[in-house]
Amino acid sequence: MDKISIVVSCLNEEDSIPLFYKEIKKVSNSMKNVTFEIIFVDDGSTDNTLSIIKSLRDEDKSVRYISFSRNFGKEAAMYAGLKASTGDYVTVMDADLQDPPKLIPKMYEYLTKEDYDIVGTRRVTRKGEPVIRSMFARLFYKIINSMSDIEMVSGARDFRLMKRYVVDSILSMKEYNRYSKGLFSFVGFKTKWLEYDNIKRVAGKTKWSFIKLFKYAIEGILSFTIKPLELPLFIGFIMELITIIMFIINIINKFNISLFYNISLLILFISGLLFICLGIISLYIAKDYLEDKNRPIYIIKEMDGKYEKK
Ligand code: UDP
Ligand code: MG
Repeated sequence: MDKISIVVSCLNEEDSIPLFYKEIKKVSNSMKNVTFEIIFVDDGSTDNTLSIIKSLRDEDKSVRYISFSRNFGKEAAMYAGLKASTGDYVTVMDADLQDPPKLIPKMYEYLTKEDYDIVGTRRVTRKGEPVIRSMFARLFYKIINSMSDIEMVSGARDFRLMKRYVVDSILSMKEYNRYSKGLFSFVGFKTKWLEYDNIKRVAGKTKWSFIKLFKYAIEGILSFTIKPLELPLFIGFIMELITIIMFIINIINKFNISLFYNISLLILFISGLLFICLGIISLYIAKDYLEDKNRPIYIIKEMDGKYEKK
């Protein structure tokens, strides 16, 4: 019998958890050939989240939980939950029912009946969200996709059902600064996308302030592209190019040009050189940075007729 693990990261979700649990139970009871485990990860909540989870576990042993010593952030919570999961299929979900549990049977069907490794979900609308926030979100996806080699899908949720070997390959990336949207894209595999309209959270408040989202966006860019580090080199070359053009103009005019012109030329020449040197250092730092992450060089899906099990 197949087992599905559901990882739920929770920060102060005392109002949402009972509702979430009820909905999940409806779904799991309707799927007769599958067993479930629900792993709640209490990410340093300061309300009754943990005691509510514990009382659920008292009655239902398919409920498991992890409790952090303090708030480590959703990324860390997801990592811990994925690591603890034992299912053949694993999904991450928010506690606030913004990820509709009723999609799970359909997701499972795609993975078992068709040749997909991941079934992801994406919001195709952002209605109910502040306009400014969705504007910045769109801008962010434009920027990061133009800079990064792997594609970040706009509106993609962390809610995705994955086969075991996909989870294992995500866990094989042990970097400290985790930007899951990037990591999920990085591992590849055949993905089916299900689309749905934005759903408002069922209870409680969002844990993401604008500042927190902005930092998260910067994190994404820093983790998944080194393009900004190539900037000084580019600026340096442009400066030197201008210097050369100015010098040619100088020659044409038989060096009869104002002192100001020549001093500008000299300044431009020297700053250009500095930028180039800075750019070279940046490139080495970039190499080191990527090396430091210890990301796998490739991920094998299948070998000699067997799926990889790490
Ligand atoms: N969350 C968490 N740790 C944090 C922030 C959020 O575990 O530091 C959880 C939160 O409890 C929820 C999920 O991550 O289950 C998504 O957060 P939220 O719904 O506040 O984000 P939004 O849907 O508004 O983007
Ligand atoms: Mg939410």
